[in-house]
Amino acid sequence: MSISESIAHIEAQLAGRATLTAVTKTKPIPLLQEAYAAGCRHFGENRVQEMAEKQPLLPADVQWHQIGHLQTNKVKYIAPFVALIESVDSLKLLEEIDKQARKQARVIECLLQIFIAQEETKFGFSPEEAIDLLQSPALDALQHIRIVGLMGIATNTDDQAQIRYEFSGLKQLYDALKPVQRPNVAFRELSMGMSSDYLIALEEGSTMVRVGSAIFGSRN
Ligand SMILES: *Cc1c(COP(=O)(O)O)cnc(C)c1O
Repeated sequence: MSISESIAHIEAQLAGRATLTAVTKTKPIPLLQEAYAAGCRHFGENRVQEMAEKQPLLPADVQWHQIGHLQTNKVKYIAPFVALIESVDSLKLLEEIDKQARKQARVIECLLQIFIAQEETKFGFSPEEAIDLLQSPALDALQHIRIVGLMGIATNTDDQAQIRYEFSGLKQLYDALKPVQRPNVAFRELSMGMSSDYLIALEEGSTMVRVGSAIFGSRN
């Protein structure tokens, strides 16, 4: 399938229930332009430098999502334009995003990344830590961020029941936290699902899927 056929195929499956974020990491500009021409407006990158290099080369209405672990000293490079930082995994990072967004006179939307996988290598908060953060008085000082939901990455396994279990747990946490009322918290997005598991994620209540290889082919 071509890029545009793959996007049309996935969009038909999503049927308006979830937003497609095309994961464009490692992919060259012409492929991003092809995805844009096919209607994609949400692009996900995991490396700050790569995103900052690509951003000026694509139309201004592209919504750039930071989906990989973000080091505090790199926030400044994407603060002028990033639409959504999906990989917030510490209060310290949130404070730096706030500081850089303030300099840009922006409010940057963020998702808390929740650790749901049975793997040691994935970043993120535990559910308890996320609950604590959303209750923390320290949040009040952050007027240039808005926490709009949660993101999670399931275990990389063929065990569909395991993946479903992890997504369903994240959905339960999302539903529990959605009523939180604070000036800079307004849940509306649950980002879960990648190329291999986005249909399961959709069934479990995802509002945003992050799909790379199923659109652009495998990465080297
Ligand atoms: C690379 C990546 C994806 C996309 O992975 P595919 O399997 O290519 O769809 C999604 N989410 C995150 C956080 C990633 O790093």
